[in-house]
Amino acid sequence: MAGGEDTNKTGFSLEVPEYFNFAGQVSSYAENNPHKPALLAVSETGEAQSVTYHELVNLTNRIGNGLRSLGISRGDRVIVLVPRGIEAYGIYLGLNKIGAVIMPCSELLRGKDIEYRANHAGAKALISFAGSIKEVDEVRSNCPTIQHYIKLGETQPGWISFEELVSNAPENLDAVATKSDELAFLSYTSGTTGGPKGVMHVHGWPYAHLAVAATYWLDARENDLVWATAGPGWAKWVWSPFVSALGKGATAFVYQGKFSPEAYLKLLEQYPISVLCATPTEYRLMAKVSDIENYKLRALRSACSAGEPLNREVIDTFRRVFGITVRDGYGQTENTLLVGTFVGMEPKPGSMGRPSPVVKVAIIDEEGRELPVGQVGDIAIDRNMVALFKGYLNDEERTAKAFRGDWYVTGDQGRLDEDGYIWFEGRSDDIIISAGYTIGPFEVEDALVKHPAVAECAAVASPDPDRGHVVKAFIVLKKGFEPSDGLVKELQEHTKALTAPYKYPRKIEFVEDLPKTTSGKIRRIELRMKEKEVLS
Ligand code: ATP
Ligand code: MG
Repeated sequence: MAGGEDTNKTGFSLEVPEYFNFAGQVSSYAENNPHKPALLAVSETGEAQSVTYHELVNLTNRIGNGLRSLGISRGDRVIVLVPRGIEAYGIYLGLNKIGAVIMPCSELLRGKDIEYRANHAGAKALISFAGSIKEVDEVRSNCPTIQHYIKLGETQPGWISFEELVSNAPENLDAVATKSDELAFLSYTSGTTGGPKGVMHVHGWPYAHLAVAATYWLDARENDLVWATAGPGWAKWVWSPFVSALGKGATAFVYQGKFSPEAYLKLLEQYPISVLCATPTEYRLMAKVSDIENYKLRALRSACSAGEPLNREVIDTFRRVFGITVRDGYGQTENTLLVGTFVGMEPKPGSMGRPSPVVKVAIIDEEGRELPVGQVGDIAIDRNMVALFKGYLNDEERTAKAFRGDWYVTGDQGRLDEDGYIWFEGRSDDIIISAGYTIGPFEVEDALVKHPAVAECAAVASPDPDRGHVVKAFIVLKKGFEPSDGLVKELQEHTKALTAPYKYPRKIEFVEDLPKTTSGKIRRIELRMKEKEVLS
């Protein structure tokens, strides 16, 4: 795909076969490449463990057979509540291979979240680890559909030992011939805007993701060491560390420690990681490391960002220091990559990029009419897109609300420019209307983050008697900076210089941290509600 072409007009069409099983594909690859490393797992203290494709498929098969011996089979829904690690890969592949429905859950979920998912989906089994069993045990009596509780690691009364279940299970397992339109994943959204929704995806979904996002955006190739930092539990884990890395026959780098920008930079220096997919927050904090110039990234070739808006500051810093262009990608749990700065495309920092070649993306108005270049409206896609979800489980109302005529409406606002690039304005609910002006929080935040004193920030609407609302910025300062009236003025002037002056934050509050989802996304809704309460 060359830069400058209209990706919507490349004639790239995506045919999904009638049957597809992702784990089956990985198993076939392993037959021809048994000694190839599939995973390289590194602990926080630096211990590394490598697993070949043959070993991974062997584990997959034993897990699949072990689960089957309990009576778990095609179509059964299974909650997977495990952290990053080799077992997570084996469990996802094992479930996929026997045609069970994976419910990816973050290990940070609390009892009430687990109970909600178990009952909402009628889960039959739950696989967990030491860190989550207390939360699970607290709600167990409220989850009548769950018949099997399986635990990784040390044995525990009331829990089936994962190790015992799989260690002696047979090593051969054929993939179920799953139909591409058969339910495969039940992924809950991040809950950034409200309660999470149970998104239904089918077996054809990883096929579609591999064909475009993994190839033209992440640019994962067979000889790559791919580090995608998302943890299990999020659609993005399925996207990149799982489907893209293994589906391309690459080696997935699995870091099991906590995030710290210095630790991340060191890993990129120490290991030949050639593809990186991280969140904007991770990139932003790396870009703010004061001695970033001292790190030499050993093998990085492709760097992608997704999940939230990517600040220009990150792109500038990575380009200046490492000569690498971080490429943005936009998508949702409900679909796959919709818009991106694809390889070979001329990036426009601040814009997400252009529509995926297999997706028709438009900016539409309330009536579903396409808006012209430059006008802000709802980001929508053709409702026939191959990788679009099959609805929200047990929620016809919210499913129906997501569609408008021929369009699926993302819930985000943006605008198109004359070159076909899409600029993200903000989530529809986060858009600020002040004295008749419509202001997207992203542009304000993007400008603020460019200031050396700002580590992170969120801009929200704050009620105002004259203007209806004004822009208020909640700011986390970098170490070494102190709040002061002088700094408030300076930040306001700084924003005015970088954006249209009416967008500057009339109010600024310095905070220690920002409210976030367990996937690390800023919950502007909380800040907005707080403003409403304080001022009402
Ligand atoms: P919920 O729908 O439960 O409130 P969520 O929308 O955060 O949660 P996800 O499906 O994980 O759940 O996230 C998709 C959303 O993340 C998008 O709709 C968009 O708001 C945001 N997003 C993802 N990628 C980008 C990006 N590159 N730029 C800007 N925003 C992005
Ligand atoms: Mg959403």
